Amino acid sequence: MPELPEVEVLARHLDPLLKRKTIREVRVYRERVIRPYSEGELQQELTGARFKGVKRRGKFLLFQLKQGRRPFELLGHLGMTGRMFVQPAKKDLPKHTAVSMSLGKHQFVFQDTRYFGRLTLDLSSIAWLGPEPLGNEFTIDGFREALKRSSQAIKVKLLDQTLIAGVGNIYASEALHRAGISPQKASKRLSGRETERLYHAVRDTLSNAIDTGSTIPLDFDGGSDGLFYFGSSDGSEYQHEELLVYDRAGEPCGACGEPIRRIVQAARSTFYCRVCQRGNSAPAN
Ligand SMILES: [Zn+2]
Repeated sequence: MPELPEVEVLARHLDPLLKRKTIREVRVYRERVIRPYSEGELQQELTGARFKGVKRRGKFLLFQLKQGRRPFELLGHLGMTGRMFVQPAKKDLPKHTAVSMSLGKHQFVFQDTRYFGRLTLDLSSIAWLGPEPLGNEFTIDGFREALKRSSQAIKVKLLDQTLIAGVGNIYASEALHRAGISPQKASKRLSGRETERLYHAVRDTLSNAIDTGSTIPLDFDGGSDGLFYFGSSDGSEYQHEELLVYDRAGEPCGACGEPIRRIVQAARSTFYCRVCQRGNSAPAN
């Protein structure tokens, strides 16, 4: 499932491709993804509109548009299996296309095999999001105050999108390993130093993942197999090699050699090293 870094990389990829393009025609093949709007409403709003740019908020894409002089936004979410890409107008639409937009010589495609993604004018999903972890509004003081009020395990709390926008299951495990903090520790029991380490670990983990994704040859439309954020156009799996603990159960921890463990917290897998991530251990790296 794509998290903040993957969405950021995608937004940076789409921005120059869509900027200044005018939407000539909109087709909706799966009305579920545009809810609560109808195909007719989406067509009316988007046809003739011009892209001003593509930004990210949490795990959402924000398509900034202008209809005449009136600015508005379209919200995108990849769900579990969604892809958004630009292809030549003449190319056939892929199977499982949910929405397509004609841009003249090119077309924008939202493909989603499981249809959990969104492409909608309804912006209510981002109204309640917490601060952007890489932005100035995410501060150590604010983070500390929020953690003090929570008895949830820190790994579970990191997934709370009102705490920080965009951290998901992969990067929560990664950040905790980087900070040397047990995923099971109650949020309010983190010391001042641990909170500070975790704050920086969250930011560094996400920034590094964005840097990695920005420098490898990604296959955005994904061809017939893996999603763009797990593989590249030459078929290798860069992302997996970058991860310290996620999906590495049984493999040796890169810092101490102890086999990485997998546990389940709030119905999601957590991966961690029990030596590097003891209650009050020092950072692993
Ligand atoms: Zn370790």
